[in-house]
Amino acid sequence: MVRLDKFCAELGMGTRSEVKQVIRGGKVLLNGQVCRKPETKINEETDQVVYQGRECKYEKFVYYMLNKPVGVVSATQDDREKTVIDVLREQVELTQEVFPVGRLDKDTEGLLLLTNDGALSHRLLSPRHHVPKTYEVHCKQAVTEDMLKQLTDGVDIGESTKTLPATAELLTEDTLLLTITEGKFHQVKRMLQAVGNEVIYLKRLQMASLRLDERLKPGQARCLKNDEISGLQEY
Ligand code: URA
Repeated sequence: MVRLDKFCAELGMGTRSEVKQVIRGGKVLLNGQVCRKPETKINEETDQVVYQGRECKYEKFVYYMLNKPVGVVSATQDDREKTVIDVLREQVELTQEVFPVGRLDKDTEGLLLLTNDGALSHRLLSPRHHVPKTYEVHCKQAVTEDMLKQLTDGVDIGESTKTLPATAELLTEDTLLLTITEGKFHQVKRMLQAVGNEVIYLKRLQMASLRLDERLKPGQARCLKNDEISGLQEY
């Protein structure tokens, strides 16, 4: 149970005092009846609230897809650097605190999922689940057959074991699609370095079943669609 004014304010309808005024002004319906008492306790999961004609829907979990731009860090807070949360706030009205599911380097672009669903995040990031992540990788030098073979077989990046077998598809002589099922620190860059090449541009295109919406320009975000959420829940 939560106070009506708090519920509306948390859903972004206005500040607490603005919301109180609107409620007292008779512009909020609770289960179809005008409710003028901001302190009324409501059940946010079952009661219906219509605020100035707009239905306020309780959402326990929220999910956003961001096309992360280069130059921002995958953190919720940073004293010096712009974060992905700062970028997301420029795009959507955040009603809940969210966090990025995993990290992309500051100079990496592309798909980043942000949510407040800790269980889903945990499943997607768990090393035991081997969730596939696909990257578009632009390399400094041409990618040879031998490099491709090493990447797909597994390479030594200085950890206790080699990287797990990856899928690599050449797009041009120096660009490839690389799908890995681990999430080691700087993994793609270290893999290319280990085979004698160098990453000059990196963009994540897919994580699990979630594909980057190519209509999103770097810095743009949108809510996930229901089928995208259910696709991820199956992982
Ligand atoms: N691998 C990297 O090297 N960097 C990223 O941002 C993601 C994967």
